[in-house]
Amino acid sequence: INLFPALSLPQLNEKQREALLATQGPLLVLAGAGSGKTSVITRKIVYLIKEKQIPARNIVAVTFTNKAAREMKQRVSKLAGSNATQGLTVSTFHNFGLNFIRREYKKLGMKSNFTIFDDQDTLALLKDLGFKEAESDKQLLFRLQQQISAWKNDLILPEQAINYAKDQEQLIFSKVYEKYARSMKAYNAVDFDDLILIPTLLLRDDPEVREKWQNKIRYLLVDEYQDTNTSQYELIKHLVGQFGSFTVVGDDDQSIYSWRGARPENLDQLAKDYPNLQVIKLEQNYRSYGRILKAANVLIDNNPHVFEKKLWSDKPYGDPLKVVTCPNEDAEAEKVVTEIISRKVRTKNGRYSDFAILYRGNHQAKIFERTLIANNVPYKISGSTSFFSRAEIKDIMAYLRLLTNPDDDNAFLRIANTPRRGIGPTTLEQLGSYANMRHISLFAATQEIGLEQHLQGKGLENIRRFADLISRASDNAERGDSVGVIHDLVARIGYHSWLHETSSTPKAAEYRWNNIQELLGWVEKGIDDNEHDPNPFAAAVANLMLRDMLDRNEKEEEESNEVQLMTLHAAKGLEFNHVYLVGMEEEFLPHKSSIENDDIEEERRLAYVGITRAQQTLTFTLCKKRSKYGEVMACEPSRFLEELPQDDLDWDAKRKPLSEEEQEQLASDNISMLKSLFAD
Ligand code: ATP
Ligand code: MG
Repeated sequence: INLFPALSLPQLNEKQREALLATQGPLLVLAGAGSGKTSVITRKIVYLIKEKQIPARNIVAVTFTNKAAREMKQRVSKLAGSNATQGLTVSTFHNFGLNFIRREYKKLGMKSNFTIFDDQDTLALLKDLGFKEAESDKQLLFRLQQQISAWKNDLILPEQAINYAKDQEQLIFSKVYEKYARSMKAYNAVDFDDLILIPTLLLRDDPEVREKWQNKIRYLLVDEYQDTNTSQYELIKHLVGQFGSFTVVGDDDQSIYSWRGARPENLDQLAKDYPNLQVIKLEQNYRSYGRILKAANVLIDNNPHVFEKKLWSDKPYGDPLKVVTCPNEDAEAEKVVTEIISRKVRTKNGRYSDFAILYRGNHQAKIFERTLIANNVPYKISGSTSFFSRAEIKDIMAYLRLLTNPDDDNAFLRIANTPRRGIGPTTLEQLGSYANMRHISLFAATQEIGLEQHLQGKGLENIRRFADLISRASDNAERGDSVGVIHDLVARIGYHSWLHETSSTPKAAEYRWNNIQELLGWVEKGIDDNEHDPNPFAAAVANLMLRDMLDRNEKEEEESNEVQLMTLHAAKGLEFNHVYLVGMEEEFLPHKSSIENDDIEEERRLAYVGITRAQQTLTFTLCKKRSKYGEVMACEPSRFLEELPQDDLDWDAKRKPLSEEEQEQLASDNISMLKSLFAD
């Protein structure tokens, strides 16, 4: 049966159809890359609405990135019509959690204007919690942050953490965790992990809320299930209930988020928790040419396997996969960009968006970016320097945060003296110690008479004037025309001239000013989108904060004609005609830290994800030498290259150790590098 004859969609295969028609009870689709797992979810949503008459508002689909969610929503609307999809939820776990909290904040004993803290905010807070060693030791601070996050992802609460502490350090961390949780409450703030943890705990502990949500969600679908962590899995279970119907799809070979608490064991657990679980395996890959698929299969065979999976393709076999060895990183970038240009020219209707450059770490992007610019090739980098990490955006976001939640101390500190208004560090310190003593927020402290014993003169006057500005704007924003109020505030603080004062050129200042206009446009749209929320302004700001964290730099997608640059992690679920997997060297892929921790399997899965993004051609590049840690160093080809079927590879250079001449060159490169370091 073709369910959508008018739309000339590809026919589903037998197994896919089975997965689509299984609408009673729990279903797991376990299958390798490119076998149509995501396609099944998309088509199944349409089927549930159109054929099963389940109202769209009773269907929830969860995907891994905002980009994936947006694409899925668009495709469903196209297939089912936008009327039929009114009220459909397609979102990331975190977005779902945010909306849940916004609906249930009263039950949670929270205020509706809560702030979401990003990584930098939580780091600042952790540093502030009186844990002396962490103030100077950045690594320790990161470990602390990660440990707290890991506990949260495992549903371990502050008062329980002490029982899970494995050593002296974790014991200290568990105490900081308690303090941290109390402070977050005082700030009326939640962090990224809380967006999952808080709904999960409420659903677990409150039968009334649980029943309400289980009634609302008649069908749940989850993509990339192998990357869910413990709290996400618990969330799923509470949402669907004991007898719920759901479809989850995943691939254990693509589990690449264990460092963020993901538990591929959740695939196993599902069968234990739901004895009536139906499991369907898909075996045909529709994405990649045969040789690419074979390479992927051979590589991943080096990992131990819990689930047996086969994957075949009836696409053409394709050309051998090129392995290009370059003298250094400049040559590598040059080579890749030149190839992209010439291949595009040679291809009929070739578009730059058919090409992707994938790498292990964001730091690898810069040199490709530079080379693309130099060659006038349009490109797009996902997930690196963010719109939201720009100073001007952080400033105005801090104003918005403070307007919705005056207890947000991080926001307060960021803008108290931006633009400059005579509030120096000493004033802020005195205000801070008073607030600490009184256990209140900085903003609340400005309102107390008692402050006058600690702070006088100009400092006091200026800080009160600032607080006044904020509280007046905040009152007005709540009363109505919030957009007008914000524009007025930005004008009142003289932000435009501040930009001109602090930018290198007038042109740069105007560029930054335009960014702010764009941000304010989003706020306006967010307020419209949330018109039914009791506080649309707070809802709009909360959505923007989350969006910032989820997809740094994923601005509105338009059909683009740009070369795509992204990390392997960000490439999950996507496909491109031509893929360049760059930096195929030991210490890059597998990553240095994974080699040290003997965690090669996850790196191999990452390589598998990268390879299986390619549809027609796949090129690996690597360097003989590159600058690392301030030194030019010789590089080793990635061990994964050797694990691939050599008959299907086309090495452009015989692999051999550096020649004497090359070694000399390396030494002299190092000397000139040292010279340049000390030159000025
Ligand atoms: P990944 O594991 O990488 O997320 P996936 O299993 O989700 O992959 P999809 O992205 O859904 O796979 O599908 C891969 C490609 O195969 C897509 O281009 C999709 O349109 C196509 N495809 C899926 N099913 C069929 C089918 N039955 N006939 C033809 N093409 C199909
Ligand atoms: Mg997919």
